Amino acid sequence: MARSKSWRKIARPIIAEVLLKAPADATEHQLRAALRAVYPFGIREHHPYKIWLDECRKQLAFHLGQKAQSTAPALRFRFCHGKKPFWIDVQCGWCNSRKPLGCMLCLSRHQALIAVLADAAFQGQLTCLRQQPTADGAHVLGDWLEEHGEYELADLFHAVNGNDIDWI
Ligand SMILES: [Zn+2]
Repeated sequence: MARSKSWRKIARPIIAEVLLKAPADATEHQLRAALRAVYPFGIREHHPYKIWLDECRKQLAFHLGQKAQSTAPALRFRFCHGKKPFWIDVQCGWCNSRKPLGCMLCLSRHQALIAVLADAAFQGQLTCLRQQPTADGAHVLGDWLEEHGEYELADLFHAVNGNDIDWI
């Protein structure tokens, strides 16, 4: 396990940089080609390649998802930078987040959020992260959420940057 973490640790910033520097109108096909060109582990097989592909898939989905969201009403999790019942909330462009329990479109997100925040194992992971707030620690929590099927919440943690870390 320790080993697979380190492959991922190497892959993550390389992939992130390619996506960050890509032109805004780059197609998925072009992005995939750019990622293929920077593969860092030599032979394209076995475990490192599997980790690389998995990390490409995750970051690409997030990257393309963010672009798609810029034209649709926002419906996403975000860290609250203000006084709210929870420190993560659901931003919903359909009900403008005015309904405390959510509208038809964001209700499932509210429910998922409440369930995750009440989970003792999540709380344990969170305590570790708060004791030592780092982007790597946020990725660990993101991985945990992914393992539990909470992909959107996982994306929130995988995208943590220096500003958000203060709010965790
Ligand atoms: Zn809503």
